[in-house]
Order: sequence, then structure tokens, then C-alpha cells
Amino acid sequence: MTSRACISRVLWSSFLFASTLAYAQAPPIRITADLTDAPRRLFHAEIDLPVQPGPVTLTEAAWIPGQHSQGFVENDIIGIVFSANGQTIPWLRDDVDLYEFHLTAPPGTTTLHAHVDYIANRKATPEFAVLEWEDLLLYPAGLPVRQIAIQPTVVAPKNWGIATSLRPISPYDPRHPAGGTVHYAATTVETLEDSPIMTGINYKEYPLNAAARGVAAPLGPGQQKPVYIDVFGDTPEDALLRPSVVADLEHLVTEAAAMYSSTHYESYHFLLTLTKFPPYGGLEHHESSDNSLPPVALTTNAALQVGGPVLAHEYTHSWNGKYRRPAGLATPNYTVPMRGDLLWVYEGLTDYLGNVLGARCGFMSGNDYRSYVASIAAELDNTSGRRWRSIEDTAVGISGYRGGSAWANWRRGADYYPEGDLVWLDVDTTLRKLTNDRKNLHDFLAIFVAGKGSTPPRIVPYTFDELVADLNQVAPYDWAKFFQERVYTVQPHVNVEGIEQGGWRLVYTDKPNEYEEAASSAFSHGLAGDNVWFSLGLKLNAQGEIGDVRVGSPADAARLVPGEKILAVNRTVYSSDVMKDAVHATKTGGAITLMVQNDLHVRSVAIDYHGGERYPHLERISGTPDYLDEVTKPLTPAPPAENQEPESRQ
Ligand SMILES: [Zn+2]
Repeated sequence: MTSRACISRVLWSSFLFASTLAYAQAPPIRITADLTDAPRRLFHAEIDLPVQPGPVTLTEAAWIPGQHSQGFVENDIIGIVFSANGQTIPWLRDDVDLYEFHLTAPPGTTTLHAHVDYIANRKATPEFAVLEWEDLLLYPAGLPVRQIAIQPTVVAPKNWGIATSLRPISPYDPRHPAGGTVHYAATTVETLEDSPIMTGINYKEYPLNAAARGVAAPLGPGQQKPVYIDVFGDTPEDALLRPSVVADLEHLVTEAAAMYSSTHYESYHFLLTLTKFPPYGGLEHHESSDNSLPPVALTTNAALQVGGPVLAHEYTHSWNGKYRRPAGLATPNYTVPMRGDLLWVYEGLTDYLGNVLGARCGFMSGNDYRSYVASIAAELDNTSGRRWRSIEDTAVGISGYRGGSAWANWRRGADYYPEGDLVWLDVDTTLRKLTNDRKNLHDFLAIFVAGKGSTPPRIVPYTFDELVADLNQVAPYDWAKFFQERVYTVQPHVNVEGIEQGGWRLVYTDKPNEYEEAASSAFSHGLAGDNVWFSLGLKLNAQGEIGDVRVGSPADAARLVPGEKILAVNRTVYSSDVMKDAVHATKTGGAITLMVQNDLHVRSVAIDYHGGERYPHLERISGTPDYLDEVTKPLTPAPPAENQEPESRQ
């Protein structure tokens, strides 16, 4: 069989070096992102690329930084038309590297034009749009992306505000958003990919430190480089943050300065949509983060303990992940596959630090933090897949991960995030123990993220050996063995050493875990089923559908199946409360018999369980140092009380 790719490979590879050399010395690519169709969930781009006549290979971004995996090819980038001097140019997609496009620039061509459309299903609403530039980017293949110059322009709908870390070169006032066309300073493809645009009609920008407020020097730690939060909402009210939340965010900036003793941005923008419409989460960048949360996440104090640390996590990535990056993730362009073996540092350490900062700045109390730690420790201890694969394997495997709830506990998912919380709590408390509390994780961070002081945005890669060497500078120890045992070896039980060195132990009681209740109400709109994971071994939704069955649990012994639906509990029609009452009664002799539907079949299932309700908590180990309390104490004063409304803390 003749492979179209083989032919094209031979044809194009011989020309690649010559054509990319021309790019390196050419004027910038110009890209105009037209977001005026965002309410219809379409983005458009006009791209002008300087080229020489002859073969040209352009590429989409395949491996997306921060996603730790490939984007979905041939999915949402559509409507591609190439032209030069007014003539349409035919193109050929590479049939091995599906992100690449081959074409021939006719004689006399100096500029190749590309028109691109993007289906922005999950990134645009009638009220706002989020552009990650890889959604519209086509650029020369084969070059380091930091060597490709590009000058961006954004066209937003009338009266929409625009927030980004890009530097505008045409007049733009975030306090009086007008929409329309804004030109930004020329940069590189690497920086553009790292600088998303958020735009919307319901917009408010809040300065979070002295530099952002324009206060003259001298400025204290965390105050020199301006930091803002740019909020976009479904409604004008959604874009208004409570004064206490703004105060917590200001406190986050000073706490991060105390923790990291450096900055690696010229300015920083928390870009945030507060919307009723998922997906929720965050994507990190050097000088900004693209965050999405439900409005309730910042409007009630209970939900703030879940939503707030998302912002602290993404902010932390400016230091850990963007500036310091595992060598396997620091690729020269977005075609080279990323290797995720050190994601337990990139994401795991960030998760630990983000939650610690969340406690220090006021998003969560010390009790909230312990409730969170109990929740993840119990969840991980009850993840049966830990019996066959290591934490490191969950990191390596993530680039090929395709999720789903059925038997998720036996497969494991992105466990290197919460496992990282516990591994790095272990490192922190071990450093405190080894040095009689004279040193802790701050001393490691002073080397790891601040060893060369503050810098503009740049990537400084590291290896496992360098990580170990930095820790040995703080306190000599066999850190390589420490991580080998905890991260690289299959461990049937969760690592609770950090919790116990911190003065607490994991226990189960019949009192619901507060963090899990807050997460359920904030992110599931209160529609989650009652938590019977640690008792029966079932993940349920409010309709009684079984998301997962914990391997080794009473539900597993009863041969229940993910995807089945519970119709009745002890002959009463299923509801979360009916199930909760039945589990409660097992402690005093109650039985649990379910009526279960599996596609066309209905059957009765008895679960042999007698332990009552079971939820995780941390319990103090008396007579030991309370390092967990120390870890969550703020290092800097909270902002002045006049900024906070009196009823904000419940
Ligand atoms: Zn992260």
C-alpha cells in the first residue's frame, strides 16, 4: 500500500530546515482572533505568515502545556483555508502527524494567509468567551516555539471587557470595556500559547496588591509586580466578589510571596469565570491562570474552602510547573511528546502548596484543611487500584488516560494530585522532624523556586536527581529512597506518615466529613447521592445510579455493577435519605436489601454490611507536636479589617 504520509514525509522533510530557517529571521506572524461570534460558540482567526515560495509545513499545537496530554486532533479547529496573493492554495493533512498541514507557496509569495474557525462549545456563552490560543494557532512546524515571533490582535463583541497578561499596544481601559479591536505587543508562539484571553459582558477587574493599585515605591514582598483578578459572570452580580474574598485573595498574594520569596512574572492575572455551566477547573500559565468555578464557590464560606484553593493552586503553578518544570515536560515545541513521570512534583507539590496557601490566606480554616486531608487520605486508601500500580505510574499514564467512573477505583485516575498532598506533607513534616523544627518546606522552596531570585517568565527544567540534591541541601537524608518507596513502589495503603508526624491520625466516624459535604453542595448543585463509599463501597448519584463499586467492599461482595440503578432500598423507593437511613440502621441490626435494575433486568441484592455510617476525619494524637496547625498558620498579617464585611466569616 502506498502511504500518503511516507510520500509527504520524504517530500517535506528535505525542505523543512530551509523553510524554518527563513521563518527564524522573518517578521512576526500576525494573528487576529475574532471573538465576535462567541455568543454562537464560534471563534475565527486570520493569520498572516511570512513564507518563501515552495513547500511549507504548518502545525497545530498537539501537546498542550498544563494539559499533560495531546489535544483532540481534528476536533474543533475547522474551516481552514490557505491563500496567497488572493489565490486559494490546496493543502494536505499529514496522515501520521494529524496536526500537520502541507502546502506549497506559489512563486512570488511572501505572505501566506490562513483562515481558521474554532468550535468553542465549552468555552463560550452569550456572556463570555475564553480563548486559549492553541485553539486558533497554526505556525511553522519543527522550530522551537520560543523562536517564532507573533503579533496578536483580538476583536471582542461590543462592550465586552478583555482580560489577559498580553501587553496591549492600542488604548485599552479595563475599567471602561468597549469591546472592539485591541492590538498586543509582538511576542513568541510560546508566550502567546501561555497567555489566554478572557472576554465578556459582565466583567470586573480587582487589583490585588499595591503595584496593581498604582501605589508608589517602596513596596513590600508580593507588592512589586502587579496582580489582578479579572472576573466574568453569567450575570453582572456574578462578577462582583465579596469584599472578604478580595481580602483573602490579597492575603494569598502576600502569603505566596512569603512562601516562594520570588516572582517569575512581570504581572499576574487570575482570569476567572463564575458560571453555572461546567466544566470547572483551572489551567495554569506563567502570568495568568484560566479558572472556572460555579458562582456559589466564592459566595458561601462553606464552598470557599473548595473553590478558593483552586485559585491558590493555579497561582502556585507560576513557580512550580511553569518556572520550574520537569525535564520531560519542558519540550521545545508542542509536537514533541511530553513525559509525565515527575507530575507528582509538578501537580502533587502544587496541590499541597495550593491547599496550604488556601488555609493561610483564609479560604479554609485549620479544621477545614484537616477535613480535606482526611477526605483525600480515606479516598486514596480506598482506591483499590493502588494494589497493582504506583503513584508514578498514574503520572506516566495520564497522557493516554481516558476517564469514566466504572471501576475507576480499580483503574486509578490522576492520583498523583492528592497523593502529592500527602507525599509533600510527609516531606514537610520529615524536614521539621529531622531539624527539630528549625527547617521545613520553605527552606526547600527557597532553593527550588527562589534560588536564582526573581526572574521574568522563563522555564528552568529539573530532574529527579536535582530535586533530591536540593532537598539534601536543606537536610541530608536518603531522599531518593524516600521517594522510591512512596512514589515509585506499589503501596497497598495510603501514606499517612505526614499526617501522623503532623500530630493527627485518620479515623472513621458516623459524622459526615465537612469538606466532602461542601464539595458536593458547591460543585454538584446538591444532587450527589449520599456518601456510602466508605461503608457500602458505592458511588451513587441522587437518582440511585451506581457510578462505581469499590473492589473488596460489601457492595463488591454482593456483585453490584457500575451502571446499575438502585430502584428501592428495603422495599422503599430509592432516595439519598432512604439509603442513608438504611445504612444508619445497620449498626442496630438493620439489613440492606436493594432492588436493582441492570438494563432490562431487575433483581434483589442483599448487602452483608453492619458498620453503620462511616466518614473520614483526623483525630489529634495527644502529646505530639501539632505540625498540621503550624503548616496552616499564616506567615503574613491579613489585610486591614475595614476591607472585610462583618458577616463574611461564619
Ligand atoms: Zn495543577
